[in-house]
Amino acid sequence: MSEFKLIAQLQNRFALQQQFCNYPAVLGIGDDAAVLAVPPGKHVLVTTDTLVCGVHFLADDKPADIAAKALAVSLSDLAAMGAEPAWFFLAITLPQQDPQWWDDFSQGLLEMATASGIQLTGGDTTQGPLSVNITAMGLVEQGTALRRDGANPGDLVLVSGQPGLAALALQQKLAGKQSQPDALKALQRPEPRLALGRALLGLASACIDVSDGLAADLGHILDASNCGAEVFLDQLPKPVALSNLSSEQRWTLQLAGGDDYELCFTLPPEHEPAVLNLQKQVGVAVQVIGRITSANGLRLTQVDGSAFSLANSGYQHFSGIAQ
Ligand code: ADP
Ligand code: MG
Repeated sequence: MSEFKLIAQLQNRFALQQQFCNYPAVLGIGDDAAVLAVPPGKHVLVTTDTLVCGVHFLADDKPADIAAKALAVSLSDLAAMGAEPAWFFLAITLPQQDPQWWDDFSQGLLEMATASGIQLTGGDTTQGPLSVNITAMGLVEQGTALRRDGANPGDLVLVSGQPGLAALALQQKLAGKQSQPDALKALQRPEPRLALGRALLGLASACIDVSDGLAADLGHILDASNCGAEVFLDQLPKPVALSNLSSEQRWTLQLAGGDDYELCFTLPPEHEPAVLNLQKQVGVAVQVIGRITSANGLRLTQVDGSAFSLANSGYQHFSGIAQ
């Protein structure tokens, strides 16, 4: 299969998807550039991410999972800013032509794209070591995007879903152990929290998606907003799959594990009831885990009031936690 056949196959597979797109392109795949119409009154949000074989996924991962996750990672960035998915570009480098691999990959991509209403409007196809880059674009009403820099002392800190599951599954996979289905799903098929992000517009004061670990990503909100936070460890969600671990192991996975693609956000306390009421509608649970402080820094408070220190400086992803 030549480069052009690969592209043509992708184009055919995505042709039918057009009817499910939020913002069908004026001109999509097939010309030198795509033509996209931005509706009046909207801002375009653009995000790009590269997944490299051996770093972000393994060579024997299912191609459909690699594709779905690559797109989910970008959709998660759009979710964190409250954007509605519109268009994406796929720049892929493939070591060889493998029709079955390409077929599975495009199927996984199509599933994730269709679920979110985003349209594949172009890309680039090259030969070399396997890597996948996705650039995604979303739309928000002008001036409404959720940002990292709006948190204020007194705001509540919340997180969606069950952080720590993906890190557990990766740790088990690397150790050659079986994982519970929900942990495996969190690792292989993360669900971008698009409905939650949209629902938080006008309510949340700051928001970020959790890709590098809850503590590090909350830290980005604190830096951008020039404030601190106290997180109460007994308020973290308690996934059943993590129930066999010691508290210390669980907190380390949940706060430093990464790959969660949940949303961490801050909320003026008066908006708490509105957000707790949203949970059913947006399809994911949210939990208050702490509050924003005027003193800088992140304090992790145990139930007896003492501070827990994450071994983050020397912590390498997923090493040093026995299970
Ligand atoms: P050019 O050489 O002019 O950049 P290409 O041959 O790279 O054109 O691409 C032809 C068309 O196919 C363009 O519209 C491009 O956006 C699209 N395309 C190429 N690779 C991909 C891909 N992996 N996914 C989606 N669209 C692609
Ligand atoms: Mg090109």
